[in-house]
Amino acid sequence: MSRIILLLSALLGLAISPAEAADELKIALQPLGKVPADVVEKARGYLEQIYAVHVEVLAAKELPASAFYRPRERYRAEKLLDWLEANTAATLTKVIGITAADISTTKGEVFDWGIFGLGQLGQRPCVLSTFRLARGVPHEKLLLRTQRVAAHEVGHTFGLEHCPTPRCTMNDAEGKVATVDAENGQLCEQCRARVPIAKISPADAPGPR
Ligand SMILES: [Zn+2]
Ligand SMILES: [Zn+2]
Repeated sequence: MSRIILLLSALLGLAISPAEAADELKIALQPLGKVPADVVEKARGYLEQIYAVHVEVLAAKELPASAFYRPRERYRAEKLLDWLEANTAATLTKVIGITAADISTTKGEVFDWGIFGLGQLGQRPCVLSTFRLARGVPHEKLLLRTQRVAAHEVGHTFGLEHCPTPRCTMNDAEGKVATVDAENGQLCEQCRARVPIAKISPADAPGPR
Protein backbone atom coordinates (compact mmCIF):
# COMPACT_ATOMS: atom_id res chain seq x y z
CA MET A 1 0.00 0.00 0.00
CA SER A 2 2.66 2.51 1.04
CA ARG A 3 4.64 1.65 -2.07
CA ILE A 4 1.61 2.49 -4.21
CA ILE A 5 1.20 5.85 -2.49
CA LEU A 6 4.89 6.63 -2.95
CA LEU A 7 4.71 5.69 -6.60
CA LEU A 8 1.58 7.79 -7.08
CA SER A 9 3.09 10.88 -5.48
CA ALA A 10 6.25 10.43 -7.55
CA LEU A 11 4.15 10.28 -10.72
CA LEU A 12 2.08 13.29 -9.72
CA GLY A 13 5.23 15.20 -8.84
CA LEU A 14 6.50 14.62 -12.34
CA ALA A 15 3.22 15.42 -14.00
CA ILE A 16 2.32 18.72 -12.40
CA SER A 17 5.54 20.70 -12.52
CA PRO A 18 4.29 24.03 -13.97
CA ALA A 19 7.50 24.61 -15.92
CA GLU A 20 7.13 21.32 -17.72
CA ALA A 21 3.47 21.87 -18.50
CA ALA A 22 4.24 25.31 -19.90
CA ASP A 23 7.02 23.95 -22.09
CA GLU A 24 4.48 21.81 -23.87
CA LEU A 25 2.55 24.82 -25.18
CA LYS A 26 2.80 24.80 -28.92
CA ILE A 27 2.33 27.97 -30.89
CA ALA A 28 3.04 28.63 -34.56
CA LEU A 29 4.00 31.40 -36.91
CA GLN A 30 2.08 31.38 -40.17
CA PRO A 31 3.83 33.43 -42.88
CA LEU A 32 1.24 34.98 -45.20
CA GLY A 33 2.69 35.87 -48.58
CA LYS A 34 6.43 36.44 -48.96
CA VAL A 35 8.16 37.20 -45.67
CA PRO A 36 11.98 37.12 -45.41
CA ALA A 37 13.12 33.99 -43.56
CA ASP A 38 15.29 35.94 -41.10
CA VAL A 39 12.33 38.12 -40.09
CA VAL A 40 10.24 35.03 -39.31
CA GLU A 41 13.17 33.43 -37.47
CA LYS A 42 13.72 36.56 -35.37
CA ALA A 43 10.08 36.54 -34.24
CA ARG A 44 10.22 32.77 -33.59
CA GLY A 45 13.37 32.92 -31.47
CA TYR A 46 12.22 35.94 -29.50
CA LEU A 47 8.82 34.50 -28.64
CA GLU A 48 10.62 31.48 -27.15
CA GLN A 49 12.73 33.88 -25.06
CA ILE A 50 9.77 35.83 -23.72
CA TYR A 51 7.27 33.01 -23.20
CA ALA A 52 7.69 29.35 -22.22
CA VAL A 53 6.45 28.07 -25.55
CA HIS A 54 7.67 26.03 -28.46
CA VAL A 55 7.23 28.00 -31.68
CA GLU A 56 7.07 26.22 -35.02
CA VAL A 57 7.06 27.93 -38.39
CA LEU A 58 4.35 26.73 -40.77
CA ALA A 59 4.75 26.63 -44.55
CA ALA A 60 3.93 30.02 -46.05
CA LYS A 61 0.44 30.51 -47.48
CA GLU A 62 -0.99 33.10 -49.84
CA LEU A 63 -2.73 36.03 -48.19
CA PRO A 64 -6.44 35.16 -48.19
CA ALA A 65 -8.52 37.08 -50.73
CA SER A 66 -11.35 37.16 -48.14
CA ALA A 67 -9.34 39.73 -46.14
CA PHE A 68 -8.43 42.04 -49.04
CA TYR A 69 -9.84 45.57 -48.76
CA ARG A 70 -9.89 46.85 -52.30
CA PRO A 71 -10.46 50.61 -51.66
CA ARG A 72 -7.09 50.81 -49.86
CA GLU A 73 -5.46 47.75 -51.44
CA ARG A 74 -4.54 46.23 -48.10
CA TYR A 75 -5.75 43.50 -45.78
CA ARG A 76 -8.25 43.74 -42.95
CA ALA A 77 -6.60 42.39 -39.81
CA GLU A 78 -9.75 40.99 -38.18
CA LYS A 79 -10.52 39.04 -41.34
CA LEU A 80 -6.99 37.64 -41.26
CA LEU A 81 -7.70 36.54 -37.67
CA ASP A 82 -10.88 34.77 -38.84
CA TRP A 83 -8.92 33.08 -41.60
CA LEU A 84 -6.13 31.98 -39.23
CA GLU A 85 -8.69 30.60 -36.77
CA ALA A 86 -10.38 28.55 -39.50
CA ASN A 87 -7.30 27.39 -41.41
CA THR A 88 -4.76 26.27 -38.82
CA ALA A 89 -4.64 23.15 -36.63
CA ALA A 90 -6.76 23.53 -33.49
CA THR A 91 -3.97 21.73 -31.58
CA LEU A 92 -1.90 24.92 -31.77
CA THR A 93 -2.42 27.01 -28.63
CA LYS A 94 -1.79 30.22 -30.55
CA VAL A 95 -1.15 31.06 -34.17
CA ILE A 96 0.58 34.23 -35.27
CA GLY A 97 0.10 35.42 -38.82
CA ILE A 98 3.09 37.35 -40.12
CA THR A 99 3.05 39.32 -43.36
CA ALA A 100 4.92 42.03 -45.22
CA ALA A 101 1.62 43.33 -46.63
CA ASP A 102 -0.09 46.36 -45.12
CA ILE A 103 -2.91 45.50 -42.69
CA SER A 104 -5.66 47.64 -41.18
CA THR A 105 -8.56 47.68 -38.81
CA THR A 106 -11.28 50.08 -37.62
CA LYS A 107 -10.07 52.49 -34.94
CA GLY A 108 -12.64 54.88 -33.47
CA GLU A 109 -13.95 57.11 -36.26
CA VAL A 110 -11.46 55.80 -38.79
CA PHE A 111 -12.88 52.83 -40.65
CA ASP A 112 -9.61 51.69 -42.19
CA TRP A 113 -6.56 52.48 -40.09
CA GLY A 114 -3.18 50.95 -40.92
CA ILE A 115 -1.64 48.99 -38.03
CA PHE A 116 1.46 47.01 -37.00
CA GLY A 117 -0.51 44.11 -35.61
CA LEU A 118 -3.75 42.92 -34.04
CA GLY A 119 -4.34 40.49 -31.21
CA GLN A 120 -7.53 40.11 -29.22
CA LEU A 121 -7.63 39.27 -25.52
CA GLY A 122 -7.56 35.54 -24.93
CA GLN A 123 -8.10 34.59 -28.56
CA ARG A 124 -6.06 31.97 -30.42
CA PRO A 125 -4.85 33.94 -33.46
CA CYS A 126 -3.05 37.25 -33.78
CA VAL A 127 -1.38 38.90 -36.75
CA LEU A 128 1.49 41.27 -37.40
CA SER A 129 2.72 43.19 -40.41
CA THR A 130 6.24 44.40 -41.14
CA PHE A 131 4.94 46.93 -43.69
CA ARG A 132 4.96 49.94 -41.35
CA LEU A 133 7.96 48.69 -39.35
CA ALA A 134 10.25 48.48 -42.38
CA ARG A 135 9.86 51.98 -43.82
CA GLY A 136 13.09 53.97 -43.98
CA VAL A 137 15.10 51.92 -41.47
CA PRO A 138 17.98 49.44 -41.75
CA HIS A 139 17.04 45.77 -41.78
CA GLU A 140 18.41 45.26 -38.24
CA LYS A 141 15.94 47.80 -36.91
CA LEU A 142 13.09 46.06 -38.70
CA LEU A 143 14.10 42.79 -37.00
CA LEU A 144 14.08 44.46 -33.57
CA ARG A 145 10.69 46.04 -34.16
CA THR A 146 9.25 42.78 -35.47
CA GLN A 147 10.22 40.83 -32.37
CA ARG A 148 8.70 43.48 -30.10
CA VAL A 149 5.41 43.62 -32.00
CA ALA A 150 5.29 39.80 -32.01
CA ALA A 151 5.75 39.70 -28.21
CA HIS A 152 3.06 42.41 -27.86
CA GLU A 153 0.39 40.74 -30.00
CA VAL A 154 0.99 37.33 -28.44
CA GLY A 155 0.72 39.05 -25.04
CA HIS A 156 -2.83 40.13 -25.97
CA THR A 157 -3.74 36.54 -26.86
CA PHE A 158 -2.52 35.47 -23.41
CA GLY A 159 -4.88 38.04 -21.88
CA LEU A 160 -2.58 41.04 -21.42
CA GLU A 161 -4.14 44.46 -21.97
CA HIS A 162 -2.17 47.59 -22.77
CA CYS A 163 0.20 48.52 -19.97
CA PRO A 164 1.25 52.01 -18.82
CA THR A 165 4.62 50.93 -17.36
CA PRO A 166 7.32 52.89 -19.22
CA ARG A 167 9.10 50.80 -21.88
CA CYS A 168 7.00 47.65 -21.26
CA THR A 169 6.40 45.85 -24.53
CA MET A 170 2.64 45.97 -23.81
CA ASN A 171 2.63 49.79 -24.18
CA ASP A 172 -0.11 50.99 -26.53
CA ALA A 173 1.81 52.12 -29.63
CA GLU A 174 -1.23 54.09 -30.85
CA GLY A 175 0.07 53.70 -34.36
CA LYS A 176 3.43 55.32 -33.58
CA VAL A 177 6.52 53.33 -34.38
CA ALA A 178 8.43 55.62 -31.98
CA THR A 179 6.59 53.87 -29.13
CA VAL A 180 7.84 50.50 -30.36
CA ASP A 181 11.37 51.92 -30.56
CA ALA A 182 11.16 53.24 -26.99
CA GLU A 183 10.16 49.85 -25.56
CA ASN A 184 12.78 47.58 -24.06
CA GLY A 185 11.17 44.52 -25.62
CA GLN A 186 10.42 43.00 -22.22
CA LEU A 187 7.24 42.43 -20.29
CA CYS A 188 7.28 44.48 -17.08
CA GLU A 189 6.93 42.69 -13.74
CA GLN A 190 3.19 43.33 -13.51
CA CYS A 191 2.58 41.91 -16.98
CA ARG A 192 4.75 38.88 -16.25
CA ALA A 193 2.81 38.26 -13.07
CA ARG A 194 -0.42 38.08 -15.08
CA VAL A 195 0.89 35.54 -17.58
CA PRO A 196 2.16 32.38 -15.89
CA ILE A 197 4.20 31.31 -18.92
CA ALA A 198 6.02 34.63 -19.28
CA LYS A 199 9.76 34.26 -18.69
CA ILE A 200 12.28 36.57 -17.14
CA SER A 201 14.52 36.98 -20.13
CA PRO A 202 18.27 37.48 -19.60
CA ALA A 203 18.26 41.14 -20.68
CA ASP A 204 15.79 41.96 -17.92
CA ALA A 205 17.42 39.99 -15.12
CA PRO A 206 20.37 42.12 -13.85
CA GLY A 207 20.02 44.66 -11.06
CA PRO A 208 18.18 44.64 -7.74
CA ARG A 209 14.55 43.58 -7.82
ZN1 LIG B 1 -1.83 46.24 -28.45
ZN1 LIG C 1 3.63 45.84 -18.58
